[in-house]
Amino acid sequence: MNYDYLVVGQGIAGTTLAWHLHRSGRKVLIVNDSSRPSASMVAAGIFNPLTGRKLVKTWMADELFPYALDFYGGLETELQARFLYLMNMYRPYRSVEEQNNYLAQTAEPGIAQYVLDRPADLSYNDFLNARYGGLEVTGSGWVDLPVFLLKSREYFIRHELYRESLFDPNDMVLLDDAVEWQGLRIGKVILCQGVDARDNSLFNWLPFAPVKGQLLEVKIDEFPAEKIVNQGIFILPDKSGTHKVGATYSWHDLDWETTEEGRQYLEEKLKGLLKVPYQIINQRAGIRPSSKDRRPMIGFHPQFQQIGVFNGLGTKGVTLAPYFAGNFVEYMEKGKDLNSLVNIGRYFSLYYQ
Ligand SMILES: Cc1cc2nc3c(=O)[nH]c(=O)nc-3n(C[C@H](O)[C@H](O)[C@H](O)COP(=O)(O)OP(=O)(O)OC[C@H]3O[C@@H](n4cnc5c(N)ncnc54)[C@H](O)[C@@H]3O)c2cc1C
Repeated sequence: MNYDYLVVGQGIAGTTLAWHLHRSGRKVLIVNDSSRPSASMVAAGIFNPLTGRKLVKTWMADELFPYALDFYGGLETELQARFLYLMNMYRPYRSVEEQNNYLAQTAEPGIAQYVLDRPADLSYNDFLNARYGGLEVTGSGWVDLPVFLLKSREYFIRHELYRESLFDPNDMVLLDDAVEWQGLRIGKVILCQGVDARDNSLFNWLPFAPVKGQLLEVKIDEFPAEKIVNQGIFILPDKSGTHKVGATYSWHDLDWETTEEGRQYLEEKLKGLLKVPYQIINQRAGIRPSSKDRRPMIGFHPQFQQIGVFNGLGTKGVTLAPYFAGNFVEYMEKGKDLNSLVNIGRYFSLYYQ
């Protein structure tokens, strides 16, 4: 066997999977076409244990968050780079009613562990319409994904684990217990193609429900840079003194182009939240590879056990990818269970329809 695994795609899915396989001592080759668009290169990279208007604890937060912090933190040391930023999230209340609801919710221990028990931050008062004060969520932050992905790629290239190329599934010859590809014999091929998986006949039967998203990059003079602000939209301080503002969610016009409609939506929200002027510097768009039930889609093809998929990371790739890449590798290498809520076995009936 030339390689134990071929990993197709080097977004967060392919990168986290390749790290786990490489660390477990397996021989891995990553093939990625970096000229194709990647959601991971557009994403804000935020992780946030309490989400939505209703302050809901995100799925498996208690397991996923410590795992992700450990994973990215360990790689920062190994790659001698900085890409993990722990940052509390300031959530200004929209009304007295919302303030009361949030405070009542924070009495629940599962929520309380992620809320700071201290008076609202006054440093934002000059910048935000936040006359009711706000709540501070802890355990949140962001990962600078372009830095994480590019530093990982440099490592993979140095260790001859990376090939820059477009992968064509038709180049594969499926053998009984392996795959032949471009003259190489490979144990398993794992497709980590993000939304491009919809064009791959091996897995296009999975129920993808892609969501387009857009962000603005803005400059707001002297706006504090210590926290992520979140009220319907987020304002994320970037390293360069600018702020990212996002995001939009759209289930139609699934292309990678920015739109006037997207800009207007974000600006409307931003104007409602800010008391001070801002300047738009850039606008970006991407497509989140979401699934119908909003859970990752991981596992092996029902007919071809040498071909796997790691996809469906949706809106939360930053926290889902490290944990479930680890779960997938333990499943493949040690025969441990793959969480049934992410295993594509739940959709096999669609394949056989
Ligand atoms: C606007 C926006 C904001 C977001 N904000 C956040 C956030 O704050 N926090 C968060 O956790 N998530 C966020 N997300 C979601 C996040 O981006 C995704 O969950 C994640 O990036 C998905 O990663 P992936 O590796 O599956 O896909 P991708 O990043 O799209 O990677 C797929 C890779 O496969 C490669 N590829 C595909 N086909 C081939 C082929 N045939 N040959 C070779 N290479 C191929 C592509 O080049 C690409 O590099 C956001 C997304 C968007 C669009």
